[in-house]
Amino acid sequence: MRSLFTRATGLPTVQRAEGCWLTDTLGNRYLDGASGALVVNIGHNDSRVTSAIRRQLDAVSYVHPTAFNSDGLEEYGALLASRLPMDDPAVYPVSGGSEAVETALKAARTFHLANDEPERTVVIGRDLSYHGNSIGALDVSGRHSLREPYLPWLGRAGRIPGVLEYRCPNPRHPDNCGAWHADALAAEIERIGPERVAAFIAEPIGGAGSGAAVPPPDYWKVVTEVCSRHGILVIADEVMTGFGRTGKWFGSEHFELQPDIMTMAKGASSGYWPLGVCAFSGRVAATLEERGFVHGFTFSHHLVGAVAGRAVIKRLDELRLVERAEDRGRALGDALRATVADHPFVGDVRGLGLLWAIELVSDRDTKRPFPPSERMSARLTESARSHGLLVYPSTGCAGDGTGDLVMIGPPLIVSVDELGMLVERLALALEEFG
Ligand code: PLP
Repeated sequence: MRSLFTRATGLPTVQRAEGCWLTDTLGNRYLDGASGALVVNIGHNDSRVTSAIRRQLDAVSYVHPTAFNSDGLEEYGALLASRLPMDDPAVYPVSGGSEAVETALKAARTFHLANDEPERTVVIGRDLSYHGNSIGALDVSGRHSLREPYLPWLGRAGRIPGVLEYRCPNPRHPDNCGAWHADALAAEIERIGPERVAAFIAEPIGGAGSGAAVPPPDYWKVVTEVCSRHGILVIADEVMTGFGRTGKWFGSEHFELQPDIMTMAKGASSGYWPLGVCAFSGRVAATLEERGFVHGFTFSHHLVGAVAGRAVIKRLDELRLVERAEDRGRALGDALRATVADHPFVGDVRGLGLLWAIELVSDRDTKRPFPPSERMSARLTESARSHGLLVYPSTGCAGDGTGDLVMIGPPLIVSVDELGMLVERLALALEEFG
């Protein structure tokens, strides 16, 4: 009788992790080419972080967030706020990305309630986006396969096309793509009624849904102009792109985007503790404080999570990992383009910093995706693992449930030699597909 409900079968059993490497109980070593799911930004088993967590556990492991203040939380709030591309931000720590997004959605609603605009309830999301698996977060997400079983519970959100230059829906691509997307947003706002729209949520640079898709340079400027014209809050979901992953502290910085609300997780704790964060701009925070924000979780504002998050930021600083992600990311992009981009099944190699994706297609000229029954991204992931490389598979980037890609994003501590091994092993895995 099985007692643990697992998410996958046939997996090796992990024994140890160190730096960019994992070892299983049979002694096989794997290069962590995707930092788990783009999580372990500072690398595995960093003793500064594990010691900080241990010290906090020895002192106080848990208090309810409405019972005590703590130095650890105050210090974390101040340190994280100093890094955010937001005006006078305030941070609300939670346990993960989906909780951060739920917090953001409720914050947007509460902001408009406070401003006597109770009819502003609709949040607009994008195709190919992913914001989490809880119902509110899933509703604003655009990944069909994850939404499909739960459709009867979804459908409140508005939706516009995703941003993926390789498959851009603008008929005049590559001309005026930013403006085309801004027009699509404006049209959706008009369809819903501008007075009913609360927020627009998007990843500044695409995550697993679109596969590290970098928007056109003017995209965020024109899209935020549309939002501010209608009093709509901008929520930047930086769960995957935060904490140095794209070569800047936050993906928003590539576009001078200053969101009203920001969500973070993954790299926030690098996986050392379940941690997500929702940040509010000063204007939003002040409004929520004045009205009262009806929200909270038993494990929000977790002391140990805050200590882990603070230790991770310190390591990013000490090891200069954000700068390193930019530098190594350029080298990784060059190596991927030189080594795997010409493979007959590789349609596109795209990314920024240390966030990359390889999209697989059955026909490079027409960009035709493989049928889902071929399980191409899963098979490439299995093949890579047999060569000692871990990558992160995703499907659906071509729309209609089709499209295969693998995400590449090693820990930001990755060495030049390890990058070489990563690309070499990926090429070997691809060779098995002819
Ligand atoms: N937002 C983005 C951009 C993500 O990539 C993810 C997870 O992959 C989430 C939200 C949800 O985060 P979590 O899985 O921690 O709930």
